[in-house]
Amino acid sequence: MEQTLILIKPDAIEKRLTGVILSRLEALGLDIAGAKVVCATEALLREHYANLKGTAFVDGVVKFMMGDYNHLPDHRLYAFVLRGENAIARVRAALGATNPEKADPWTLRGQFGCIKEGVMQNAVHASGSPQDAAREIALWFKPEEVLK
Ligand code: UDP
Ligand code: MG
Repeated sequence: MEQTLILIKPDAIEKRLTGVILSRLEALGLDIAGAKVVCATEALLREHYANLKGTAFVDGVVKFMMGDYNHLPDHRLYAFVLRGENAIARVRAALGATNPEKADPWTLRGQFGCIKEGVMQNAVHASGSPQDAAREIALWFKPEEVLK
């Protein structure tokens, strides 16, 4: 069984889309193996997005993930571990392309994402590969917080 890390991003939290997003992902037959509210620090987000280091947009992405472009009272993100057959690829398919303006209209990012302040505010993060999933789950969750 595969596990994947999901983050509900500040744009989706502001629009109160958490339930809609989770329900679409649960409908794929995936189980929730971990769930928490995280007040994300800049250090945690820079570690999470280590692959973006050196790009022109990484600072904007970190600011966005800290909630700076949305009307939130804090730096909250909602983190989930979802589990199921082929979970990583199936969740990524449900999300659609990174760029919400290019994502298919039936995908979560195609429906709920937008580009603002030069950042792709695309509603949800999901791990892109088994290696990323293992690294990201270990970054956001303690082992005892995830069902075996
Ligand atoms: N991002 C952006 N502009 C870009 C590329 C990425 O704003 O040109 C943001 C976007 O929110 C994206 C995140 O940075 O989800 C991480 O980028 P990545 O390439 O890993 O895309 P993802 O795996 O999220 O589809
Ligand atoms: Mg990625």
